[in-house]
Amino acid sequence: MARYRDAVCRLCRRERNKLYLKGDRCYTDKCSVARKGYPPGEHGQSRQKFSEYGQQLREKQKAKRIYGILERQFRRYFKEADRRKGVTGENLLQLLESRLDNVVYRMGFGRSRAEARQLVNHGHFQVNGRRVDIPSYLTRPGDVIAVREKSRNLPVFKEIREAGEGQSTVDWLEADLEHLQGKVIRMPQREEIDVPVEEHLIVELYSR
Ligand code: SF4
Repeated sequence: MARYRDAVCRLCRRERNKLYLKGDRCYTDKCSVARKGYPPGEHGQSRQKFSEYGQQLREKQKAKRIYGILERQFRRYFKEADRRKGVTGENLLQLLESRLDNVVYRMGFGRSRAEARQLVNHGHFQVNGRRVDIPSYLTRPGDVIAVREKSRNLPVFKEIREAGEGQSTVDWLEADLEHLQGKVIRMPQREEIDVPVEEHLIVELYSR
């Protein structure tokens, strides 16, 4: 599966926004956006004015980078969001939020979406009792996500228990620290999705 492998802090600097791609480091003063709040590259410090198209493009890039998705897959999410009833932009964010790697991250089992994705990829999670190692798996209300029995003693999960992490950071998910499992209670409302994305610009971009 293709994915971005270059320095991720550059992506935040490009968007002039903290995208929280690196876990704990993002909350320290080592964060590159905190230290250099301008885009990377030779012309990074010169003033940039975006056209309407430029703004729409940046919003799309930001969303892709936050969720760690490449163009082709992102476009597929957009098509599905457009097909569903309701507001396309909100549908799109809901779809992205319901990805298994994002849910694992939101429950607190990974310090970043990238770490959560790796844990899922390595087969440490099950959904409703069945092993699932596909980060893009779309969860649904009622799904129970748990660390698999044979993975529970791995240092990463022991650390989570000892550090008191593993609590859900959002109301639409439940997380049980002691039993290393959680449940999707419902789909999130737009105001519960704290990503700095203006999704209507993405819809405008794809509707051109
Ligand atoms: Fe982005 Fe985190 Fe790097 Fe800061 S430390 S630039 S928030 S990935």
